[in-house]
Amino acid sequence: MKTKTDPSAPSSARDKLLFTPGPLTTSHSVKEAMLHDAGSWHFEFNAVVASVRERLLQLGGVSRGRGYEAVLLQGSGTFGVEAVFQTCVPAEGKVAVLSNGAYGERMIQMLKHARIAHLALRTGEDTPSDPAALDRALAADPAITHVAAVHCETTTGVLNPIDELGHVTHRHGRTYVVDAMSSFGALPIDLAGWHIDFLISSANKCIEGVPGFSFVLCRRDVLLACEGIARSLSMDLIGQLKGFEKNGQFRYTPPTHAILAFSRALDELEAEGGPAARCARYMRNHQTLVTGMRALGFRPYLDPAVQSCIITSFLFPPDPEFDFDTFYRRLSDKGFIIYPGKISQADTFRIGSIGRIFEADIQGLLAAVQQTVNELGILVETPTPPPAVETAPSFS
Ligand SMILES: *Cc1c(COP(=O)(O)O)cnc(C)c1O
Repeated sequence: MKTKTDPSAPSSARDKLLFTPGPLTTSHSVKEAMLHDAGSWHFEFNAVVASVRERLLQLGGVSRGRGYEAVLLQGSGTFGVEAVFQTCVPAEGKVAVLSNGAYGERMIQMLKHARIAHLALRTGEDTPSDPAALDRALAADPAITHVAAVHCETTTGVLNPIDELGHVTHRHGRTYVVDAMSSFGALPIDLAGWHIDFLISSANKCIEGVPGFSFVLCRRDVLLACEGIARSLSMDLIGQLKGFEKNGQFRYTPPTHAILAFSRALDELEAEGGPAARCARYMRNHQTLVTGMRALGFRPYLDPAVQSCIITSFLFPPDPEFDFDTFYRRLSDKGFIIYPGKISQADTFRIGSIGRIFEADIQGLLAAVQQTVNELGILVETPTPPPAVETAPSFS
């Protein structure tokens, strides 16, 4: 249980550990899978692409037989989200965006750039998106054609109720788009049951691959009904799907090494016991982290009731002398990379629990935080007791 990251890796190959929202620490064997040059036309590489698409559908609990498709797209996760809007929202369409952080705001930016009508349904950065507000908005505005939500808003780590939002969207007969970037592969997601028409995630989050592409899991009929809308050539998901169906290939240069690494990462997810086991590891990482940080006098920003096990925001300590850059550098010197905050309403920093990291790595990080607090003489608050133990999300 307390295995440290990558016992197999030669010590010279051990990098500083990333406690970030991605890209993440990956296993040595995932990195090793990239030590090959694959031809983008070659049948062996195309077989890997086909199997990756198939296995992503399985992970989502759906299949081609049930009318779903997996479309891979070059670029980071943002490209996948933007491709869905570019491909699927007609000129006269309108998108309701549930936003409580930077990634919801990024979707609004994309819609502005594409000159697509939209309505922002905002809640505070510490407050989950509100299904009742969505219900009222959809009842009031028949022009809204699509609803877009973020599952885990990585800005804070807050978890949004994408199941309830899906039921509301379905009841009103609108198309549902979910950014599940930092949750897919670990947190339970029921694409069919929650009426998700388009789900976007990427290679370098909970599946623990390297950056290079995003993927869209979608209903085939809903996607194909969008023929002729695409505002972009390279980001046209229908064109991309037709490429895969025509000759098994990406239309333009594929991220060959990232695909090979991802295929290995999918093997390792399976070997770990699938999303439920991965979620359990992230949950242990998160609980160890929060309990340890509280004992050191740091306070999480979110109420534990709305906090995911993916990433945790901590408030700056009350010490007026606290300087994040110094704190960050001291931790980096000790081999641990944390992440700055992104919240507009509070001064915070973030620590991720995802990637190829284990409880022992979190304990190593906590020891480094304690040492850094002592070195810098940072005044922290009186330690607070740990919150009530959270239960792991259920997998059906
Ligand atoms: C990581 C992430 C994205 C995509 O960000 P990129 O920098 O393009 O990879 C989008 N949404 C969420 C919630 C994310 O965590």
